[in-house]
Amino acid sequence: MLIISKKGYISILFYYIIIDMNKKLYVISGSSGVGKGTVLKGFLARNPHFMLSISCTTRKPREGEIDGVNYFFLTKEKFQQNIADDKFLEWAEFAGNFYGTKRKYIKQCLEEGKDIILEIDTKGALQVKKQMPEAVLIFICPPSIEALENRLRGRHTEDEETIQKRLNEVKVELERAEKFDYKVVNDELERAISEIEKIIEGESKC
Ligand code: 5GP
Repeated sequence: MLIISKKGYISILFYYIIIDMNKKLYVISGSSGVGKGTVLKGFLARNPHFMLSISCTTRKPREGEIDGVNYFFLTKEKFQQNIADDKFLEWAEFAGNFYGTKRKYIKQCLEEGKDIILEIDTKGALQVKKQMPEAVLIFICPPSIEALENRLRGRHTEDEETIQKRLNEVKVELERAEKFDYKVVNDELERAISEIEKIIEGESKC
């Protein structure tokens, strides 16, 4: 920045932008209905410097969801074009829809020193880990499968066919969760949030 004083002296102020090059990418996954959205919302409210990555999806927006805020809602054709152009860091088909994270978007966020969290399915999380071994994977577990089914039905946002598809995914996801760095049981909201905070605090010191 150039400052010209009354006497005409020119001072140059150097600004050092400190970018933490060791920013880690945190990935949170959990079975549908496990309450990871609520846990994440609580975590983000307590840690506002963290931002949630916005994914692309081919699923239709639910009531109240906004394009560019909750998701980037794409057509199947557009999504497939992005796959062909290798634009995704990871992508997965989940319950009949496609979901994916843009590579460029994540790279840019990390370069800007942002604390970023991805909320994606287990398949996508393991793809991220393959490409970025330093990424930290956290799996949110249900206290039990029955509790998970009750929560999924209680949302009243999916029809029976979709609920069945999602329950079938649960078993597969629990197997994949074995490869995650951490597991957090969502038995009590505040406790689960605190556990994630402790994990992140510990990881940011490594
Ligand atoms: P929903 O349709 O309920 O918003 O999300 C369904 C599933 O897709 C959730 O398990 C969510 O974590 C996952 N998901 C959301 N965005 C992405 C993404 O970018 N990539 C992958 N692999 N999964 C995602």
